[in-house]
Amino acid sequence: MKTKIGLLYGGKSAEHKVSMQTALAVTRALDFSKFEIHPIYITEEGEWVKGQQLDTPPEDVKALEFSSKSALPSPAFSPAVFQNGNSKLDVIFPLLHGPNGEDGTVQGLLELLNLPYVGNGVLASAAGMDKIIMKNIFAQAGLAQVDYVSFLKSEWEKEASAVYEKTEEKLGYPCFVKPANLGSSVGISKCTSRAELETAFEEAFQFDRKIIIEQGVIAREIEMGVLGNDDPECSVCGEIVPKKDFYDYTAKYEDGNTALIIPAEISADQYEELKEMAVKAYKALDCSGLVRADFFLANDGRLLINEVNTMPGFTPFSMFPLLWKHTGLEYPKLIERLVQLAIERHEQKQ
Ligand code: ADP
Ligand code: MG
Ligand code: MG
Repeated sequence: MKTKIGLLYGGKSAEHKVSMQTALAVTRALDFSKFEIHPIYITEEGEWVKGQQLDTPPEDVKALEFSSKSALPSPAFSPAVFQNGNSKLDVIFPLLHGPNGEDGTVQGLLELLNLPYVGNGVLASAAGMDKIIMKNIFAQAGLAQVDYVSFLKSEWEKEASAVYEKTEEKLGYPCFVKPANLGSSVGISKCTSRAELETAFEEAFQFDRKIIIEQGVIAREIEMGVLGNDDPECSVCGEIVPKKDFYDYTAKYEDGNTALIIPAEISADQYEELKEMAVKAYKALDCSGLVRADFFLANDGRLLINEVNTMPGFTPFSMFPLLWKHTGLEYPKLIERLVQLAIERHEQKQ
């Protein structure tokens, strides 16, 4: 019997296009003799459209875009998108990034429907999407990280100057201002003065009601893939070398000239320490399936955790799949492993 995979992709986020590319790559990598692929497309308007089961790997993303006219009534969500006729799909593979994708909301929906799904559960997804909560949990686990402060928009509106003073006192310059709840570097600014800090707060508060400000470090950026449920495994490390001041949105998605170096040139001791930190972070957030753990290797030699991404970029050219390829797990096998982990986790809960 083939495993019926519901592939959930697209979405009403800045990462819609990336998600489409990922869905195309995943469908082309899957073995059609082992898996049935049922596309579930979320349009840019946020409508959910169930496509026909794929008989052959699609040629391009157009083949994965379905018109909502043929579909469910708007607002188009119905648990029926997860059905194949009268039977349930075996496992859902969400290929969504950002809010409403990797923040626990879709995961909660799938929990309610009692469907196995690939990747992190509700708690890890939600905690991983909120940089303040994530860093508080890391601190509690004793993980080394940069100093930070956080503020609500309402606090800032009431007493902006006190908020700036507290930030300067605790962190100094340079510092990084970030919305608590985004990814892809959206709304993030590096600040070297009070004037820049003020502009950065304005900017970040456009995206969220909470922001985090971190001490800026001069550091190499090292990333590691983690895969598994209760006993996670670590990949080799990679290094990202942005050609710009920092790894901002355009460096990630538009320039295409950020170098990925795999394996990263680090010592065996550093690798061991990073592995320990990655697993500690994974367990602290109660992750399952996968994460990409991102670190700073500071110029003074300190290893600091920056963040974990609970649904890392997943095209064949993204860091996470490349890290596993270099560790000996090719893209199609990586996908199969994730499906297997999803089913195992679901069975453990029953
Ligand atoms: P995102 O979740 O959007 O990827 P990050 O926290 O990883 O957000 O920040 C994006 C990029 O900004 C990082 O990859 C790094 O280049 C730079 N950066 C973020 N925080 C710091 C910091 N505290 N010190 C130095 N560089 C930072
Ligand atoms: Mg992130
Ligand atoms: Mg990041």
